[in-house]
Amino acid sequence: MAAIEQFRDQVRAAAAGKRPLRIRGGGSKDWYGGLLQGAILDTRVHTGIVDYEPTELDITARCGTPLAEIEATLAERNQMLAFEPPHFGEHATFGGAVAAGLSGPRRANSGAVRDFVLGAQLMDGKGEVLKFGGQVMKNVAGYDVSRLLTGSLGTLGLLLEVSVKVLPRAFAETTLQFQMSEIEALRCLNEWGGQPLPISASCWCEGVLALRLSGARAAVDAAVVSLGGTVLNDADAFWTALREQQHAFFKGDAPLWRLSVPSTTSAIVLGGPQLIEWGGAQRWLRADSAAFDVIRRAAVAAGGHATLFRGGDKSVGVFQPLAPAVARIHARLKDAFDPAHIFNPGRMP
Ligand SMILES: Cc1cc2nc3c(=O)[nH]c(=O)nc-3n(C[C@H](O)[C@H](O)[C@H](O)COP(=O)(O)OP(=O)(O)OC[C@H]3O[C@@H](n4cnc5c(N)ncnc54)[C@H](O)[C@@H]3O)c2cc1C
Repeated sequence: MAAIEQFRDQVRAAAAGKRPLRIRGGGSKDWYGGLLQGAILDTRVHTGIVDYEPTELDITARCGTPLAEIEATLAERNQMLAFEPPHFGEHATFGGAVAAGLSGPRRANSGAVRDFVLGAQLMDGKGEVLKFGGQVMKNVAGYDVSRLLTGSLGTLGLLLEVSVKVLPRAFAETTLQFQMSEIEALRCLNEWGGQPLPISASCWCEGVLALRLSGARAAVDAAVVSLGGTVLNDADAFWTALREQQHAFFKGDAPLWRLSVPSTTSAIVLGGPQLIEWGGAQRWLRADSAAFDVIRRAAVAAGGHATLFRGGDKSVGVFQPLAPAVARIHARLKDAFDPAHIFNPGRMP
């Protein structure tokens, strides 16, 4: 295919000259990760759904395919990407979503992007096309490599094609709201998380906990009766705004931190407003990047990590430094996939 030949020429020329390449779709996540450098390798020339088997619950598409096109195709068959990837812009691509590895509100209950990736086709730093995993759930050969590529931010190679598992949409969905403090919300989320309730998303912010219930009508109705609360109208718009960070909490220029911690962690007091998702496991914080040391220490003390997600001074390090042993594994993987170190240098450690 012409696009693959074009990519190969660009990759080989970059490797020969040891010149960095910046893999980019529509750039909807350009602000995420470390600083950008290198000549742009534009994935938008490589588009299209290669295979979609609604009965097998899987879809394979080329990296430049708009994420919106994938979701619209699935919606026609009442199916979805259960990890609800954030688009962060109308031009988000499928390759970019997998490479960025970001998951949306359903993550705590359904799984992350990585959990749904079945296989991938990658162009490595020598311009060779490698295939990992398969297109169906039964094929597990090379499964772990395609998962490793998820969230690698294009630092290991150019994802050409990805196969993911899809899921049917729920028959019924209701969102309940409760007025409660942060401490009370964390207690409830952990208590409810241990019960057979059809919870598919949660969000606490400014004294209000929103809880989405998805599943069979009877299960959702029974949960509404047992939990109480107030039904939120136009809930789809609420969860989409949350996923896309258009919720009022995300407005303004204050640096945005993402703390990933065990869901049982009690309230973390860090002097800035917080929004809590994923049953308590994801905590968004607006706080100056000068406070990075305190924020990172608090995340580590809770058994997690902190990322300077958006804005702020990136020189403090966007991602929490890796443990030396893990950093060595990263370096060896990088050398194996991209010996000339041309792909997205600096975007991720
Ligand atoms: C026919 C067509 C026309 C379009 N026209 C326009 C237009 O006119 N204007 C416009 O703005 N957009 C346009 N787009 C959309 C645009 O190309 C994509 O939306 C864009 O690529 C989105 O990428 P992203 O934002 O998801 O990820 P990005 O922000 O581009 O990438 C996120 C991260 O993933 C990495 N990454 C991305 N793709 C890969 C990959 N394949 N392998 C490895 N790493 C990767 C990146 O390097 C980055 O680290 C068009 C798309 C199509 C299909």
